[in-house]
Amino acid sequence: MKTIAGLPTARGFAAGPVFIYRGDGEIPIREYVIEEHLVDNEMRRLQRAMVETKRDLEGLISVLKERTGRSDVRVFECHLMILEDIVLQDETKNYILKDRLNAEAAVRKTASGARAQFERMNDPYFRERVRDLDDIERRLLKTLIGYDRHPKLELTTPSIVVADDLTPSETVQLPKEYVLGIATNGGSTTSHAALLARALAIPAVTGLGDITSRVSPGETVLLDGTNGAITLSPDKATEADFAALVKRQKDLTEEVASGVPAGTLKDGGEILIYANIHPGVPIAGVKAYGARGIGLYRSEYLWLTNEVEPSEEEQFEAYRRAVEFTAKFMPPGASATIRALDIGGDKMVRGITAKESNPFLGNRSIRYLLSNRDVMRTQFRAILRASAYGHTRLMYPMVSCVEEMTEVACALESIKRELAAEGVEFDRNIKVGAMIEVPSAALLARELAIHCDFFSIGTNDLVQYTMAADRGNEAVAHLYQPLNPAVTKLVKMTLDAAKGAGIPVSVCGESAADPVVGLYWAALGADTLSMSASYIPVMSKLFSSLTRTDLEEYAKIPESLPLGSTAQAIYGACHDWLAAKVPELRENLV
Ligand code: PEP
Ligand code: MG
Repeated sequence: MKTIAGLPTARGFAAGPVFIYRGDGEIPIREYVIEEHLVDNEMRRLQRAMVETKRDLEGLISVLKERTGRSDVRVFECHLMILEDIVLQDETKNYILKDRLNAEAAVRKTASGARAQFERMNDPYFRERVRDLDDIERRLLKTLIGYDRHPKLELTTPSIVVADDLTPSETVQLPKEYVLGIATNGGSTTSHAALLARALAIPAVTGLGDITSRVSPGETVLLDGTNGAITLSPDKATEADFAALVKRQKDLTEEVASGVPAGTLKDGGEILIYANIHPGVPIAGVKAYGARGIGLYRSEYLWLTNEVEPSEEEQFEAYRRAVEFTAKFMPPGASATIRALDIGGDKMVRGITAKESNPFLGNRSIRYLLSNRDVMRTQFRAILRASAYGHTRLMYPMVSCVEEMTEVACALESIKRELAAEGVEFDRNIKVGAMIEVPSAALLARELAIHCDFFSIGTNDLVQYTMAADRGNEAVAHLYQPLNPAVTKLVKMTLDAAKGAGIPVSVCGESAADPVVGLYWAALGADTLSMSASYIPVMSKLFSSLTRTDLEEYAKIPESLPLGSTAQAIYGACHDWLAAKVPELRENLV
C-alpha cells in the first residue's frame, strides 16, 4: 500500500478502478512546407517552445523535490534529458532548415522516428521511454500551438480518471456518470478545471507529479479529494475504513437535503447558501444538495464547450432553463445570477479570444464585451429575455473601474429599449451587479456601489490579483492565500461599502466553500455564500451548529493574533477554533 500526496482540489472521497486518460493520443497539427524567408521565424518558434518546455519541466521538478523528495522527480529529469538531447534537437532543426517543414511538423517527425527506434528495442527500459517521448512531444506541441486539444473520453465503467492534466473543456466533456474521481500529474486547486470538478461533484486531487506512470489501468485506488491524497494497492482494512467514510459523506448530503434550509444558524439566523453552476451541469443536482438559489451561472461555458459563438436562441434557452428552474423549484425569493461572458485569462476560446502576451491582464471579461458590442448585445438580449421567466440578476465580471459600469449600463438600457420596441417580455428592473475580483474594484467599492444593486466577491481572482499568484500555477500555490490580510482587508472594504450603500453581497469564489474561510466571510457580514453545490451539505451542517454570537467570536480570531501573523497562522487559528467547536465536521476540514 502506498499513499501519494497531491493538492486537495475537489473535496470528496472515491474508490474505484483506474482509467488512464492520455488525451487524444496524437495532438492534431497542421503540417506544411514553409517558404525560405520564414525559416528563421520557424527556428525561433521552435527555440522558444523548447525554452518554455524546459522551464515548465524545471519548475515541476523543483516543486516535486520540495514536496516529495528525489525519487519522484526521476521521470521529469528523464524528460528534460530527452528534451535536451543534441541528436534529437539537431534532427528537429534540420527538418526546418533543410526540409523546410513548419516547427510542429518537425517536432512530430523527430518524435515519430525516435519512437520507432525505441519500440524496436527489446529492452523494456527503452520501450518505457516511448511514453516519455510522447509526453515531451505533447508538451512541445502544446506550447507551439498555444492551446490544449479537446479529445473525447471513452469511458464505459465508473472509474477514477488519471491524467497528465485536464483543461476546462476536457473536464466539462467528461462523461459524469462514469467519473468517480480525478487524479492528475499537474494542475492546481483553483484552475477552472478544478472548479468544474467541484461543480460536477467529482472528487479530485491534482499536482501528483507522475501519477500517470505509477498506476496501471484497472487497479483499485482510493482517492481523497478533501486532504489531497491517493492510495495505491490499499489493504483490506484501509479499503473498509474508506468505504465507511464515503458512506458518512453520502449520509450527510441526504440529511442536509431533507433538513432545514441551507445556511440556517442554530439560533435561526441565516446566511443564504447558493450554488455556482455551469451550463452542462445538471441543474436538478443543485437542488438535491440544498442550494437556495443560483449565485453564479458561468455563462462562458457555452462558448468553451462548443468553441463557437452561441446564438441568441441557444443562449436564451440555456439561461431560461436556469431561471425557470430557480423560480419553480427553489425557495420563494430565490434568484438566478447570470454572469456575463467571462472569457480570457485561462478561459481562452479558439478562434474567439485573441492571443495575448499576458491574457490575465488583457482584453478579458467585461473589457472583451465592451470591445465586442455584437457579442454583448446578443448575450444581453438573451439574458433579458430569460428574465421574464423568474428572478434574474445580471452580473459583470472583472470590473476594474467606474467607467466600465457606466458604459455597460448605457448599453444595457439601449438593448432594453430595443426589446421593448419589439414587444418582447423582460424584467425592466433587472438587478445588476459587479463582481469584485480585482483589487481596484475593492478599493473603488464605494464608487462602484452607486451603479450596482449587489456585489459578488470573486475570491478566486481577487486572491490571484492581490497576491500576484497565478491561480492555476502549483509552483506559487503557497502564495494563494484567501486569509492573507492583504485579501481580507479588501473583502472588508467591499463589505463596508456595500453596507453603506445598502446593497447585498455574495461571495462566489471557491473560498466560500472552505469551512474555515467561508465562515469568516459570513462572520464579516457576507449575506450569501455561493459555491459548487456538492460543498453545500458540509457548509449547511457547519452553520446549523453555530449561532450569531459564535460568528462574532470567529470574526475576531484574526485580529486577536499578533500583528504580522502569517496567513498560515491565521488559517491555523481559525481552523483550530472550528475543529474544537464542531468536532463532527473535523474530517471535512483541510
Ligand atoms: C472568482 O474569480 O472568484 C469567480 C467566481 O470567477 P471565476 O472563478 O469564474 O473566475
Ligand atoms: Mg473570476
